Amino acid sequence: MSDQPSIETVHAATIVDPKERKSFALKDRPTRGDQIFASKKDAKASLEEDALAINELQDAMFACKGGALLVVMQGIDTAGKDGTTKECFKYTSPLGVNVFGFGKPTEEELAHDYLWRLHLRAPKKGYIHVFNRSQYEDVLVVKVRNLAPPKMVEQRYDQINAFEKLLAENGTRVLKLMLHISKEEQGERLRERLEVPQKRWKFNPSDLEDRKLWDEYQHAYETALQRCSAPWAPWHVVPADSRSRRDATAARLIRGALEAMKPEYPDPGYRPEQYQID
Ligand code: ADP
Repeated sequence: MSDQPSIETVHAATIVDPKERKSFALKDRPTRGDQIFASKKDAKASLEEDALAINELQDAMFACKGGALLVVMQGIDTAGKDGTTKECFKYTSPLGVNVFGFGKPTEEELAHDYLWRLHLRAPKKGYIHVFNRSQYEDVLVVKVRNLAPPKMVEQRYDQINAFEKLLAENGTRVLKLMLHISKEEQGERLRERLEVPQKRWKFNPSDLEDRKLWDEYQHAYETALQRCSAPWAPWHVVPADSRSRRDATAARLIRGALEAMKPEYPDPGYRPEQYQID
């Protein structure tokens, strides 16, 4: 496909470079995505191709059990965490991909350290797990809404880096996607939720409370991306104002992560001609 940007190009356009992470500024990152995919048509064609490839790569990964992939999906309300997951894995066998959402912690979860519920759902070899919200809520909503003492939040960046390093060093590739939308686009999407009957269930008045804290959330995201874009688990900022470009960009990155793991079907340990089936 001629208008499909290479995986390397998409990688370079979205990564928060671990070497330059301290000077990372969210405002420098586009929310539109037309510099990656010139047209929605190109984006849709690219997504189709990648969603099929993701299925094939997952199948080989499942067969060889050579490693696991954890996709961390973060983004402010309406950024499209559900939609991106649905599109990128629409052709992937449900046997090999599991999605976990992390909302307000339960009593049981609060009785443990905050990483417990995440570690419990980390993928075993052969699987892809998607975290819809993640350990990062504990330095985002928790920070913005003062749900833990600032000193504890401050300690968490290093703890999260250590947690992800543990996963990475034990065979789990960690791909972190921040879906980046503009405040205007969020306004549009919230209005759409009120207007379209099939979307009304998604509207939560608390989203408006969070919208009032827009600047605080942007700042908390920026800090999290500066502090936690490590070589073993770098962040990618995915422009998310256009749904088709967002999905296509995420799919290129997921495909790239799987290809880098080089999954290959294992030797079956027999020669097919050994057996005759009557
Ligand atoms: P979503 O908005 O992802 O579709 P929900 O409507 O269930 O799903 O919202 C989940 C809510 O839980 C979000 O407001 C999120 O900020 C909150 N949440 C997630 N993790 C935590 C946490 N560790 N502490 C407090 N709130 C959290």
